[in-house]
Amino acid sequence: MLSIRPARIADLPRIMTVLEAAKGISKISIVLLLCLAGCYSGWTPRERQILSASDSLMYVTVLQADSAILRTPSAEIGARLLRSGELATLKAKMLHTVMDPSQDGVGIAAPQVGINRRAIWVQRFDKPGEPFEFYVDVRIDSTGGEILHGPEGCLSVPPMRGIVPRHGIVHVSYLDPDSGGRASETVEGYTAIIFQHECDHLGGILYIDRADSVFVSEAWAAEREAYNYDRPEWW
Ligand SMILES: [Zn+2]
Repeated sequence: MLSIRPARIADLPRIMTVLEAAKGISKISIVLLLCLAGCYSGWTPRERQILSASDSLMYVTVLQADSAILRTPSAEIGARLLRSGELATLKAKMLHTVMDPSQDGVGIAAPQVGINRRAIWVQRFDKPGEPFEFYVDVRIDSTGGEILHGPEGCLSVPPMRGIVPRHGIVHVSYLDPDSGGRASETVEGYTAIIFQHECDHLGGILYIDRADSVFVSEAWAAEREAYNYDRPEWW
């Protein structure tokens, strides 16, 4: 419970003195805050180091060793950095990593390569050719449809699989790569589930947090047969 004690009349002169003092430092504070915001919105030295140190196949963070990264909510990238070389590198290396036969995922989030930023790749099973698409500062604005209980795994949680309840429809928004403004769309079915899984990563949430049940891979073959929603054959 939050409790705020009302100010007494006798306190007013002291409160006014504090407010006057605050007025005096406000301009300095604003300048400092703007400077800090400007510095913070750029890529950090650690992020630059990760991006430059790795080859095109990046190290994939795993829960057992990298929980500090995987459990930290990710920061926005912002329109100012949309055309930065660092974002282009992150985009290319994340795609190479998720498509590598050693990973073979259908989506990946930046925290999974050690970068706590709101960027994801999603394989669009709802589009012809099932292309991978990249989204920056992506958010799920609202959800709908029936709740689907389906199978999931995660590159960062080997060797487990689980049954996870997800919404059948999501309304997502993200930064338009051309205009820098926000674009939005509605996604349904299996691709909507991938969006939910990857956006969860950006909030420090893993599928095992939401799962009805979790299995080691050996028990998975039998379990998967019980579920049959809109999903690719290879599940
Ligand atoms: Zn995952």
